[in-house]
Amino acid sequence: MKKPIIGISGSMIVDQDSDIFAGYHRAYTNDDYIKSVSRAGGVPVMLPIVDNVDEITAQVELLDGLIMMGGHDVDPVLYGEEPNNKLGFIYPRRDAFDVALIKAAVDKKLPILGICRGHQILNVAFGGSLYQDLSEIPGCNLAHVQKNFCHEPIHNIKVIPTSKLAQLIGEEMRVNSFHHLAVKDIAPDFVATAFSNDQVIEAIEYAKDDQYIVGVQFHPEMMSANCEKAQNIFNGLIEEASKYKEASHGK
Ligand code: MN
Repeated sequence: MKKPIIGISGSMIVDQDSDIFAGYHRAYTNDDYIKSVSRAGGVPVMLPIVDNVDEITAQVELLDGLIMMGGHDVDPVLYGEEPNNKLGFIYPRRDAFDVALIKAAVDKKLPILGICRGHQILNVAFGGSLYQDLSEIPGCNLAHVQKNFCHEPIHNIKVIPTSKLAQLIGEEMRVNSFHHLAVKDIAPDFVATAFSNDQVIEAIEYAKDDQYIVGVQFHPEMMSANCEKAQNIFNGLIEEASKYKEASHGK
């Protein structure tokens, strides 16, 4: 059987270093997502931000699995809030792309893994909300924006034993942390599956039917080269994508 094709949602970087191309827009995904998918036996495909929903649907047609990449803060207008003064850079064009991508992937019942922003926007796309800053959470006092190397863990998470995530990483893991937003109201049909010791939601998953949709607040792609549990999160997605491929077109 051919390897499953795994789409990675793209972002945009604006060239600021170059004299000639200052302001130039470059579509990209982070390389560690690509390597993590390859190590898991999937074929990584970058999905550039496009605006036309027909194109987004056609992008999803190519895939057996989807990763929603980390990055920008999510626009709070998507869950009906005004921006508070701690909100970081938002990119509504990317938000619209991500939400359309998720909807198209859900229609096709594709397995989905959301990471950091990807985890947050999954929750929002399904009707949940976010804390715009961790200072909104009573008792949140751990270092969720770490100052050590990004491949090194900083805080503990406890995982709900019956979750899909627990099958991949067990009931406890030390994870890295680069977020100042977090899931507030969990989307209908989703459950929280991991918490930090200061009760921040660190993972969610879809609980309505057997479609595989998992979100993690930390960054397993940054740890996966040297951390079996982090790599297992990608292995889990690729395993589901292989099943999807077999069931849908059997090649
Ligand atoms: Mn954290």
